[in-house]
Amino acid sequence: MAFITLNKAHLFHNLDLLCAKAGGKHKVMAVLKDNAYGHGLEIMASLIHAYGIRKIAVKNLQEARLVSSLFDETLVLVEHPTCKEVPSNVSLAIHSYESLLCLERGSSLHVALDTGMHRNGIKEDEIEKTLEYVAHKGLVLKGMFTHFRSADELSSDFFWQRRAFESVKAKTKLLLDTLRLPPIAFHACNSAGLLRSHSLGSDDFARCGISLYGYTTLSPLIGHYDLLPVLSLWGERLSTRVLKKGERVGYGGVYEASHDEVISTYDVGYGDGFFRFDGHEPVVMTNGQKSKGKMSMDSFCLGGEADEVCLFNDANALAQQFKTINYEIITKLSPSLKRIVI
Ligand SMILES: *Cc1c(COP(=O)(O)O)cnc(C)c1O
Repeated sequence: MAFITLNKAHLFHNLDLLCAKAGGKHKVMAVLKDNAYGHGLEIMASLIHAYGIRKIAVKNLQEARLVSSLFDETLVLVEHPTCKEVPSNVSLAIHSYESLLCLERGSSLHVALDTGMHRNGIKEDEIEKTLEYVAHKGLVLKGMFTHFRSADELSSDFFWQRRAFESVKAKTKLLLDTLRLPPIAFHACNSAGLLRSHSLGSDDFARCGISLYGYTTLSPLIGHYDLLPVLSLWGERLSTRVLKKGERVGYGGVYEASHDEVISTYDVGYGDGFFRFDGHEPVVMTNGQKSKGKMSMDSFCLGGEADEVCLFNDANALAQQFKTINYEIITKLSPSLKRIVI
C-alpha cells in the first residue's frame, strides 16, 4: 500500500530555525490547514504539540474539532461565521465587518485587516466601528492580523504593508484603551515574512505554514534557508512483467520498449493526489529512475522490480515540472494515504 513518511528530525530542525528567528516557541503559530498541507492533520498536530508549540491555525471548524484539545489556541482561518457554539480555545478569523454580526456573545475572534492584499479583511476606516461592536456585543477579541501579498517576492510591497500594519496597530491600541477592552495579539508574518525579517518587531507571533514542512518560495535573491522537507511519498509494487521489444505499456501506449525489459507497476496514481504525468515528460524518482508511460488513476510504471519506490522527498523539482508551487504538490496528497513517522 502506498504510504507517506514524515521525518520528525527534519520537522524539529525546521521548528528550531523558525522559533529562533521568531524569538521562542510562543512566537510561532503553526499553520496546519488543509490536512497540514497534505501531511496529515492529526499526526502533525501531535508532533508539533510534542515539540512545544501551543498555537495553531486550521482551515475550518471540522479541522479544529480534530486537534484543538492539544493546544492553547486554534485559529480557524476560513469558516463562514455562524451562531454555532465553538470551544473557548477556538477563535474564528473574521474577514469582513458584516461577518462579525453573525457571532454569538462570548465568541472568540481575530480580525483580519486589509493592508493592501485586497483579498480579505476590514479596512482601516472600519476599525473603530468593529471594536465598538465587539465591546457592545460582548465578543472576545483575541487578535488582529494581516497577510502579505508579496512576502516571498523581491519587491517593496512587503515593506509598505508592514508599515501600514504598524500604524493601524498604534491606532487600535488607543481605541482598545478607550473602549476598556483588554490587550490583543497582533500578527502579520507568514513563513516568507518571518524568514526575510530580522525579527518580529512588536508582533506577538508569526503564522508559519510552508516552512514547517521544509519549503519556501522566497526568491533566492532574498536569502537561502536551511529548511529540510518533512514528507516523502512511496509506492509499493503491484505487479511485474517482461515488456518485449516493441510492446507498449499503459493508456495510449505512449511508452514503447526498445528492447526486452522488466517493468513493474506501483500503487500511486493521480487519484492519490499526485500530479498526472502524460508519458511524454517522465517523472524522475529519488533513485534517478524515470517513469514509463502515462500515469493512471491508481498506478504508474517503472523499469525494474524493486518492492518500493520513493516518488519524491523534495517537492521543488515536481513543482517546476508541473508549473506550480511546492505548496500544491504536497497539499493535494490524499488524506487516505497511510502516514508513518520516521
Ligand atoms: C496559509 C496562511 C498562512 C501560512 O502561510 P505560509 O506561506 O504557508 O507560511 C499564514 N496566514 C494566513 C492567513 C494563511 O492563510
